[in-house]
Amino acid sequence: MQKVLLLDIENHPINICTWKRALVLLMKGKAVNARRLNNVKCLIKVGNVFIPRVIKLTYKLAVQYKELPFCRENILVRDECVCQYCGTKFPPEELTLDHVFPKSRFGPDIWENIVACCKECNQKKADRTPKEARMKLLRRPYRPKDYLKFELKKYPESIVKYWQEFFEAS
Ligand SMILES: [Zn+2]
Repeated sequence: MQKVLLLDIENHPINICTWKRALVLLMKGKAVNARRLNNVKCLIKVGNVFIPRVIKLTYKLAVQYKELPFCRENILVRDECVCQYCGTKFPPEELTLDHVFPKSRFGPDIWENIVACCKECNQKKADRTPKEARMKLLRRPYRPKDYLKFELKKYPESIVKYWQEFFEAS
């Protein structure tokens, strides 16, 4: 997975892009290597070209707030594929989404009302609230705030380790 972390001119992470996009930005002079000192580990080798794992824009960008899409994949990432009732971790395809306040009673489709749930717990809970079903939620469902920090959860540790310092600093 050849992805590059993009920082703004003040070193705050703003996006994760493909190496191709990074190369275009570098060639156009719109971005530079974010690290002044480099070692080979901080570079991605693509053919004969070396691309920094972290690049930084050379110009000031108007701040863009990116809303995290509300979708099944992101709910499962937020809940780390753990059933929010029994606490068991499952492969994504074995999980369902549960409306904490039941859909049949007009429970809304929002981050705060949807959790990852295994089939067994979903069947057991049926059209009841957790209280009615006497099933306790592991934690209250929430809307993730920081888009990019959330995106990081989708990447393996072997890549994130090269980016981490820039998140800690911002
Ligand atoms: Zn369960």
